Amino acid sequence: MSEVRKPVIVVHGGAGAWNHERSQPGLEGVKKAAKTGFEILKHGGSAVDSVMEAVAVMEDAGAFNAGYGSSLNIDKRVEMEASIMDGKTLQAGAVGLLEDIRNPVRLARIIMEKTDHVFVVGEGAEKLAEMFDLERREPTTELRLKYYENQRKALLEGRSRLPRLANLVENYPELFTLETVGAVALDKEGNVAAATSTGGFPLKLPGRIGDSPSIGCGTYADNQAGACSATGVGEIAMRLVLSKSVCDFMGNGKTAEEAVELAIELVNRRIPGTYNSMGLIAVDAYGRIGAAHNSPNLCWTYISPETKEPVAYLAAKIVE
Ligand code: ASP
Repeated sequence: MSEVRKPVIVVHGGAGAWNHERSQPGLEGVKKAAKTGFEILKHGGSAVDSVMEAVAVMEDAGAFNAGYGSSLNIDKRVEMEASIMDGKTLQAGAVGLLEDIRNPVRLARIIMEKTDHVFVVGEGAEKLAEMFDLERREPTTELRLKYYENQRKALLEGRSRLPRLANLVENYPELFTLETVGAVALDKEGNVAAATSTGGFPLKLPGRIGDSPSIGCGTYADNQAGACSATGVGEIAMRLVLSKSVCDFMGNGKTAEEAVELAIELVNRRIPGTYNSMGLIAVDAYGRIGAAHNSPNLCWTYISPETKEPVAYLAAKIVE
């Protein structure tokens, strides 16, 4: 991997319902994130820096279910999580159960680089954030409070018995506010990295940890294969170790696009049903990109040397 690579970044803002009013801020958000990450790559910066800064932009935007604007759990509290992985060293860092850290992805990187661990949650993680002077920010927004009340009402009226949410989602599409954010990148040195950040599934049980901070499930990066970030129903990605599966496909010679398509096929085949929405982005070791989803939408974008400006999509695809 010593030859110079053309850098590329792919960013997602989640596989959520993305209704009309919210789609514009979503698309603007992913574009801004991709520009920030690509600027770093263009100047010779690392893939790890690039994905971290791209994700931090989306954590600050208020348009996504990550950082400021995170979804509320069933106790009406935010419990954020994030992860990051360096494909060169296979080092990874992840955090969970964070209440008010402004940029969970920055704390994930601290876990990766300043501790001997991969995954630290709750009080211990908050303590580290304090040691490293990370900023705090109250993440609850008016919009999330409104969604919470609607979702809770439906739950109390007996239209949901978690986790069998399929019927509820039909009546309350805003339950599917799966606007987790993620980024994957390849830098000039040929190193790949991935990062993912989320408030988690709306109305989740307190203490529930999803795919986003779970290495191999929501995030994976390996220079010998590529990098992947997932969004969607976390439990599906966990049961299939989905991001690692995408990297394994790439490691076995598939392009990034073939790999994400195969992984979505795997979801549909092995865990069929209406409650299996997933979205995936990937970059392979050659800088080819891929995005695929069986969710109603996927908000995503990419920048490569050929495109210069971000090419952003609110891709919609209905899979039977
Ligand atoms: N994957 C996230 C989770 O289950 C949700 C999302 O993608 O928005 O926590």
